[in-house]
Amino acid sequence: MPIYEFQCRQCDTRFETLVRISDVPACPQCHSEELQKLISAHAIGSGAPDTPCGSAPCSPIPACGMGGCGSG
Ligand SMILES: [Zn+2]
Repeated sequence: MPIYEFQCRQCDTRFETLVRISDVPACPQCHSEELQKLISAHAIGSGAPDTPCGSAPCSPIPACGMGGCGSG
């Protein structure tokens, strides 16, 4: 299941969340649904070839949004 990073347009809170089909994410701070979807900065450009994230070590919640880290 994909994890995306969002920034709230109302209070500028940044957070990562699982996004399911027909599930609208909301800000954990102000519950606004006015969200900017972010692209992980470290997913762009050259990185370490060992991990899908391009950054080691991978966190339990991968910031790359690929969800492939640590699961195998
Ligand atoms: Zn907010």
